[in-house]
Amino acid sequence: NRGGVAAVVEAGFDKGLNGFVAHAYTRAAGLRQAIADSRFRLAFQPIASLSTGQTHHYEALMRPEPGGEAPQDPQQFVLLAEALGLSAELDWAVLRSVCAAARLARNTRIAANISGLSLQSPSFRGALLALLDTEPLLVDRLMLEITESAEIENETEAGRSVAALRTRGLPLCIDDFGAGAATFRYLRLLRVDYVKIDGAYVRHARRSEKDRAIIASMVDLAHGLGTQVVAEHIETEEEAGLMRTLGVELGQGWLYGRPGPLPGRG
Ligand code: C2E
Ligand code: MG
Ligand code: MG
Ligand code: MG
Repeated sequence: NRGGVAAVVEAGFDKGLNGFVAHAYTRAAGLRQAIADSRFRLAFQPIASLSTGQTHHYEALMRPEPGGEAPQDPQQFVLLAEALGLSAELDWAVLRSVCAAARLARNTRIAANISGLSLQSPSFRGALLALLDTEPLLVDRLMLEITESAEIENETEAGRSVAALRTRGLPLCIDDFGAGAATFRYLRLLRVDYVKIDGAYVRHARRSEKDRAIIASMVDLAHGLGTQVVAEHIETEEEAGLMRTLGVELGQGWLYGRPGPLPGRG
């Protein structure tokens, strides 16, 4: 009878939903704990001058430790942290690890990725400025890459953070430029030293005149604002040559090195 079917369906749905909620809850708790315990490693990828091929600086990329409930893929890890409102906690944990590496780095900077969300957090800003004030050496060893994946809602707070960091001389970079909807807004709002063109444009540049035209105008735009340009995901000499021709100063990608340990320190 109908009541029987409905009851069975309801029971099944209930069971499925409970399972789903329980799983999501476990994952969230696992991620929170993984961040609190800094359960990740860092991999470093070189960013090279396109004219000399020499390493200009490194980008630190987080690698979740295997095991536990948190996602293994760094992008998933970061997105879930953002969705759970844990961006500032994650970015701070990563930044502390990056600082530990940066203290040992000789004549090079290490870029840490931070979410636009962290930039608008007054407590994140306070902690970062306090760190730079007690350890001025870090100003010469660090750089920040600001991802435009998340919308900046509080322009005032984000602007304050950027101004304070610029005053201290910390270089800033807009990451994945051209990938999101906030691109122009970020450029307007944040005075930065570098703009990193999203890998998707680089990947298509060789075969697509349209992508080359867009890259050329992004380079124009950046240079007009006194900003240097980095291109990510450069995998071949051909792509490097093309980016050089288009006026890009720095390149990152497998051609120059995969993410790995910092050289000279296992
Ligand atoms: P991203 O900041 O744009 O980092 C570049 C990504 O491109 C990295 O992936 C890197 O491994 C990959 N890549 C580098 N060279 C090449 C290449 O030549 N070809 C191709 N196809 N890919 C290349 P990864 O490490 O999986 O990171 C993915 C994203 O996760 C990052 O993109 C960044 O948005 C985020 N992320 C990683 N680490 C952190 C972190 O510590 N904090 C924050 N907030 N986000 C992070
Ligand atoms: Mg980055
Ligand atoms: Mg990038
Ligand atoms: Mg990217």
